[in-house]
Amino acid sequence: MVCAAAFSYRRKDFNDNFGKIRQASAACTKYLEDIGTAKWSRKYFPGNRYNLLTSNVAEQLNNALSKSRASPVVELFMFIQRMLTRWFSARRTKSAKHRGAVTPEVEDVMQTHIRLTKGSKISNITSWSYQVKGVFGHTNTVSLENKVCTCQVFQHLKIPCGHALLAADSIGYPHSQLFGDCYKTQTWKETYAGVIYPEALLGDHPLPPAIERLSLQPPKTRCPSGRPKDKRYPSTGEIQVPKKTKLNRCGRCGVSGHNRTNCKVPI
Ligand SMILES: [Zn+2]
Repeated sequence: MVCAAAFSYRRKDFNDNFGKIRQASAACTKYLEDIGTAKWSRKYFPGNRYNLLTSNVAEQLNNALSKSRASPVVELFMFIQRMLTRWFSARRTKSAKHRGAVTPEVEDVMQTHIRLTKGSKISNITSWSYQVKGVFGHTNTVSLENKVCTCQVFQHLKIPCGHALLAADSIGYPHSQLFGDCYKTQTWKETYAGVIYPEALLGDHPLPPAIERLSLQPPKTRCPSGRPKDKRYPSTGEIQVPKKTKLNRCGRCGVSGHNRTNCKVPI
């Protein structure tokens, strides 16, 4: 139900789906209202979400870096450089091979949109506006000029909805003109055109005198007691579900409640 509400494009659909949540669980309703609809729903998010609805993009990078997080900072930088070079190279190769006007994932989204509006009837309103009547009787109005449709998909995703694609087909307008620039293959290629070079040998690059004279010592800090924390702090509104802890058993007798140092069981 939360997914249905979060992915709704129209205000009415959102309200209907949120109404179901309201009926099902007061606690869940309060939780979602406290977070604020702008933070989790596509309809009320103030910016552009495109076709992505992810909780936190930084989480994914955090996860990829988790293995090297405990390393010294220079090692960590080298790890990041190698990882990003690998990622960039794979994406550069993939985008260079691609022949379509938009990325393969967006082409798939477009194919889904075409499938969903199959059998619809189209009628002309003005030279750029069309009315599309679906097989179930729903009517949508699309404007190719302003790239908007009453189904809200076109303007929210910047990917043409099935109605817009039908309208474009009726006048022979190329589909590629309807997509946002961010989805085009050219933008995809340009995104990964940059190169992150590996670290140079010391002395390979001339250093400014001010930096060369600088004596940089590690900061004076007190090492906190205990094992360093390697888990990140939860962000606002995030509830961490505690993992099921394994019952600690004594390594000598196998009984829980004590360990092998204070084990008194005669063996
Ligand atoms: Zn539409």
